[in-house]
Amino acid sequence: MQTHPDYPQHLAELPHNFIDGVGQTGAGKVRTLRDPATSQVIVELADADRSQVAQAVSSARHALPVWSDTAPAIRARIIFRLAGLIEAKAGELASVEALNVGKPIGQAKRDVQRAADYFRFYAGCCDKLQGETIPLGPDQTALTVLEPIGVTAHILPWNYPVSTLARGAAAALAVGATMVAKPSESTPLSAIMLAQLGLEAGLPRGAFNVICGAGEIGEALASDNTVAHVTFTGSTATGRKIMQSASKPIAGTTLELGGKSPVVVLADADLDAAADGVVRGIFFNAGQVCAAGARLICARSIHDALVKKVVAKAEALTIGHPLDNPDLGPLISAQHLARVEGFVDRAKSEGLTCAVGGHRACPDGLTQGAFYAPTVFTNVPAHSEIAQQEVFGPVLITQICDTVEQALDLANGTAFGLVAGVYTADITHAMQFARKVEAGQIFINGFLQGGDTVPFGGVKESGIGREKGLAGLAAYSAAKSIIINHRDTS
Ligand code: NAD
Repeated sequence: MQTHPDYPQHLAELPHNFIDGVGQTGAGKVRTLRDPATSQVIVELADADRSQVAQAVSSARHALPVWSDTAPAIRARIIFRLAGLIEAKAGELASVEALNVGKPIGQAKRDVQRAADYFRFYAGCCDKLQGETIPLGPDQTALTVLEPIGVTAHILPWNYPVSTLARGAAAALAVGATMVAKPSESTPLSAIMLAQLGLEAGLPRGAFNVICGAGEIGEALASDNTVAHVTFTGSTATGRKIMQSASKPIAGTTLELGGKSPVVVLADADLDAAADGVVRGIFFNAGQVCAAGARLICARSIHDALVKKVVAKAEALTIGHPLDNPDLGPLISAQHLARVEGFVDRAKSEGLTCAVGGHRACPDGLTQGAFYAPTVFTNVPAHSEIAQQEVFGPVLITQICDTVEQALDLANGTAFGLVAGVYTADITHAMQFARKVEAGQIFINGFLQGGDTVPFGGVKESGIGREKGLAGLAAYSAAKSIIINHRDTS
């Protein structure tokens, strides 16, 4: 595979951490990163230790007055330049991401473009952030000034490393905050490359730091007394720990957590469009998507016909090495493969019907790869583990409903509330569903379509706060109120 034309070069030359504008070898544990499709070693990196976490936060604190006092139009120019540099390096960034995550190269290219787009969107906001004036009568003037919140921490998952980092980093930097990112220990490479590009674009040293490591390094970062806001994307279990850590510095938190998102298909829906949406919604990135449509809730009269279409499409999906751009690459690791397999095996032993898949896959002789076949369980009871828990793999379940109300009850019947979809020709039913479903983002007659300028985030155990769009700026600034007394006492 190292001879593949898309194989990223120079991986061994990447620094392991990026602190105060300088690449640093970590003083912590040495970590081996493997290509999840072949299990081949791609690079070894040394994690940061706690003193390097403190160093990174301190450098972000020192960069804060420099960056926040940079005129908004200049900040904008630097962030626009960063977007351009990401695009100029898109091929290399995408192949690093594909190899590190196991993501098909076409999807990795799209993620890199999304990262550039986040920087460009928020660059455009730098000089448009305004405070307000508040009427207090003739003798006083009150106004608010939006100030950057301070040093921000960005703790990230492994499924969309480059775009998830960019969506928070771009918003934080646009308002004049500085940052320390801690990518997932499995997928740190694109974050380091992005921080290097930030310096090249003109960010002051220390404005964009990256430290690598696992949970204990994330915990040290989230609980550092200087951190003013923690943006966390990851599992609900870790999100709970982050809330505790961030309570030490009384930092704000944005939590983008897991999901078990429903896609409802009513009897009058366009079945082909629904089948396309359902298949894309669960098998994209091999189901390792927080917003994956993991539960198909379907009207009884069309259930079997729709399942037939979904199964046919699932069987036609290609599986292979990410650099060959199949529909599905491997899962992130052998460990995660075993976790997904555990869910499926327990569902089978519950006696649930598996319409397709339900086993590992071994494409093109990639015997050491973490591949899992697209899998569909039909007519799954609401209380089953596989109907309630996030599998985070290519595993769909179906549930049957007889009324819109029943569809809503099923849709709202988990602890999560990230996104939801509904397919129907009846706009009244669609809006009834959209209003009553417990989720942060709803798709009508489409799924996971709509772009990255629309606010995104969950309710219930899927999180708090919003990223993307103008709403994504709110976490990174605080309104300071100034009240001027100008009563004429002469
Ligand atoms: P994870 O919770 O295991 O890890 C996420 C990050 O937290 C990693 O960087 C990890 O090192 C760090 N971490 C672990 N323990 C920590 C601690 N005690 N303190 C601080 N940091 C700690 O999640 P994951 O397996 O990397 O990602 C998969 C999960 O992420 C899924 O649940 C998925 O739904 C969720 N996710 C959500 C979104 C969203 O936008 N809502 C997007 C992508 C992924």
